[in-house]
Amino acid sequence: MAERYEDSYLYRLRHSAAHLMAQAVTELYPGAKLSIGPPIENGFYYDIDFPAPIKEEDLTAIEKRMKELSKLDQRIQRMEVSREEAKALILDESIPSMGKDVAEYKLQLLDAIPEGETISFYDQQRTDREGTLHRFLDLCRGPHVDTTKEIKHVKLMSIAGAYWRGDVKNKQLTRIYGTAFESAEDLEQHLHMLEEAKKRDHRVLGRDLGLFMFSPRVGTGLPLWLPKGAILRDILIDFMKKEQLARGYEPVVTPHIGNIKLYEKSGHVITYRDKMFPFMEDEEKETYILKPMNCPFHIEIYASQMRSYRDLPVRYAEFGTVHRYEQSGEVTGILRARGFTQDDAHLFVTPDQLQDEFIGVVDLMKAVLVKLGLTDYRVRVGTKDPSSDKYVGHDDNWVAATKAITDACDKLGLDYEISPGDAAFYGPKLDLMIRDALGREWQMGTVQVDYNLPERFELEYIGEDSKPHRPIMIHRAPFGSLERMIGLLTEQYTGAFPFWLSPVQIMVLPIADRHIEEADKLAARLREVLFDSRALRVTVDHRSETLGKKIRDAQLSKVPYMLILGDRDIENGTVGVRSREEGDLGAMPLEMFLQRV
Ligand SMILES: [Zn+2]
Ligand SMILES: [Zn+2]
Repeated sequence: MAERYEDSYLYRLRHSAAHLMAQAVTELYPGAKLSIGPPIENGFYYDIDFPAPIKEEDLTAIEKRMKELSKLDQRIQRMEVSREEAKALILDESIPSMGKDVAEYKLQLLDAIPEGETISFYDQQRTDREGTLHRFLDLCRGPHVDTTKEIKHVKLMSIAGAYWRGDVKNKQLTRIYGTAFESAEDLEQHLHMLEEAKKRDHRVLGRDLGLFMFSPRVGTGLPLWLPKGAILRDILIDFMKKEQLARGYEPVVTPHIGNIKLYEKSGHVITYRDKMFPFMEDEEKETYILKPMNCPFHIEIYASQMRSYRDLPVRYAEFGTVHRYEQSGEVTGILRARGFTQDDAHLFVTPDQLQDEFIGVVDLMKAVLVKLGLTDYRVRVGTKDPSSDKYVGHDDNWVAATKAITDACDKLGLDYEISPGDAAFYGPKLDLMIRDALGREWQMGTVQVDYNLPERFELEYIGEDSKPHRPIMIHRAPFGSLERMIGLLTEQYTGAFPFWLSPVQIMVLPIADRHIEEADKLAARLREVLFDSRALRVTVDHRSETLGKKIRDAQLSKVPYMLILGDRDIENGTVGVRSREEGDLGAMPLEMFLQRV
């Protein structure tokens, strides 16, 4: 089994780098109060209360001092102390990073350590040529590396505001983000990856390519889809609808708002309250909510008639737009928006059908990923954490549902890892974790097995024995949401979508104004050609620009093909073809080009 990051040398190294940074800061900014400084996924941070605000430019000096301190080869030693000793150390004016003026947060952290737990400090010490002892001391659980000399390859990245203890009512501290690696090559590779990620940032590409936009007048996290982005959505929706129809799904459409009673019954009002927009009340004092999930509506449709075992499985699919009140600091472009559209479906199945239906869902998800070119993924099965009591439903059901999922994976030959504690509160689930072109992992499609909602809504079907039975629900969303999937695809392809997905597939470039009429005719002919049972998407560049400029702009818009049209082409009945991937392909008859695509 792979070593956990939390147990790795790299984790200790980054934690030690956070301390080294804190040491540099306390030297350069007397009076700076330290709070917490943990390692995180790609580096570390430290939250510090500076006497006066600092700027990103100041990080250079801090980083320089860190490198000097690293070379001084300070031994890093753990010391375990009593609570009284700890307090005395924190208030000890003779230690540079300590004393009552800067003790505020450390004293609170000390108080938060439960009675009986070991209290430890990490002490970095060195003796200079004159024989004077220098030390930097920090209240910390550790562990750390042995000497600051090991912390060679560090880089301070950015600063941000962070509330003490994450509470907006508390003071805002300055968070400094940094990273550290074991080798210069690793650090360089990471920085290169970040550069690449910046180029692929879906928020920038989404704007530059005309896919979507945000407006402060509309509101935080509420995307406006522009024509090219809307086409992209349509293509993905059409693709999924076709796949679903072929697999026996039935479409349903439900409203954007619903009576709160429905969501009280489903339990969402209690478990999901902090993600819901404020409620609204009508003149008859009925309360409505903006739907955060589609499930209860689909359940109402299921429950609207008597069901027999012969009717099952029932598979209701909807591109359901939901709204969730994400914290404004957590909203990230269309990856985490406040309004988004799920490729949602709910399957109502008998216990006998559960495994086959689950296999069907996973098979659909695999087909979707192959079509989208996202073939590097792992499967995570989220199960119940046996030590927690946040779950609902009988143990027998949990065992059966978990077995249905793992058996389905075995039958499909899928490698999966079990992740205890990652289940939904009502049942176990399977998540697809997609690795993108930069090696970053994205949690996308999900399938959940649910015994809880059928119970809450007292759903039934009449079994072969003529008695009522309870169906099981499967919730699934292969894309996750359209927004999240388009965000991922935009970054994966750096905006250069595969031909079938490209909002504009062919751009016709008339060389001079006198070729515009023929260019329009050519575009009209191309639009009569069906590709993936849709008309080819063709645009003509009507501007009076030079051909060079038109080609450059078409390249920037990442269109897969340009067709250049001049005198000779019109005379010979050819088009000059330029491909996004292969460059200039020369003149060819239109039929030959069509064969190519
Ligand atoms: Zn620490
Ligand atoms: Zn659902």
